[in-house]
Amino acid sequence: QPLLQIEGLQVSVDGKPIVQGLNLEVKGGEVHAVMGPNGTGKSTFAQALMGHPRYEVTAGKAVLDGKDLLQMSVDERARAGLFLAMQYPAEIPGVSNANFMRLAVNARRGEGNGLPVLQFHRHLMAKMKELGIEPSFAERCLNEGFSGGEKKRNEILQMALLKPRIAILDEIDSGLDIDALKIVAKAVNEMRNPEMGVLVITHYQRLLNYIEPDHVHVLLDGQIVRSGGKELAAQLEEKGYDWVKEEKQRED
Ligand code: ADP
Ligand code: MG
Ligand code: MG
Repeated sequence: QPLLQIEGLQVSVDGKPIVQGLNLEVKGGEVHAVMGPNGTGKSTFAQALMGHPRYEVTAGKAVLDGKDLLQMSVDERARAGLFLAMQYPAEIPGVSNANFMRLAVNARRGEGNGLPVLQFHRHLMAKMKELGIEPSFAERCLNEGFSGGEKKRNEILQMALLKPRIAILDEIDSGLDIDALKIVAKAVNEMRNPEMGVLVITHYQRLLNYIEPDHVHVLLDGQIVRSGGKELAAQLEEKGYDWVKEEKQRED
């Protein structure tokens, strides 16, 4: 049974159809790359899965671990193990990074299984060190005044702590220099395990040199129009997205 199963998903934003019949299956242990030009609905797809209220699912199904995601609230989806590292992480004034993460981790672990403060703190510090994040970031407000790269590393820190079933990384490579990219990729690779599936959303092939996908999909106008192995990403790097568009037009 796949960990994540998406069938015929359609999503509208402000009444405008953006995702238009998307099918995707992710099994445990797999890394899927979703690639596509700007504005084709990659982030819309991710936000709709998380249950962002602005993104209206008008048709289709989305099942995580056999459970209907579309019937769940945003919190329930997170607790069920769906995680999104956002393209533009929000800044939350007044909430320290450490507190935010402890609440999120304990919510995911469930009633009665929360980590004691000190134990959580040690765990947090160890993960931060691995990701090259300054210890002082624990006490700073969530993402406030963080640089683009710091925000992205902080998202990966959340992922490492939350141990999701399905992790979606939306353009985690944007705003990262090559060293930060390598740190992030290494962290993701170390987290790879049969209990988790990963969706890597990216415009560029570069990230996929470091996080090797099992499957690559091309999203165009809200639909997956091509799927293949990692060689598809290399082809896109070489030829851009236009040839996929042309091939699709010939087929239609
Ligand atoms: P991608 O992530 O592939 O670059 P997006 O999902 O961000 O694409 O956007 C797809 C389309 O949906 C775009 O045409 C964009 O204008 C529209 N869109 C996405 N999010 C919003 C939003 N919050 N408000 C208005 N339009 C949006
Ligand atoms: Mg975009
Ligand atoms: Mg996007």
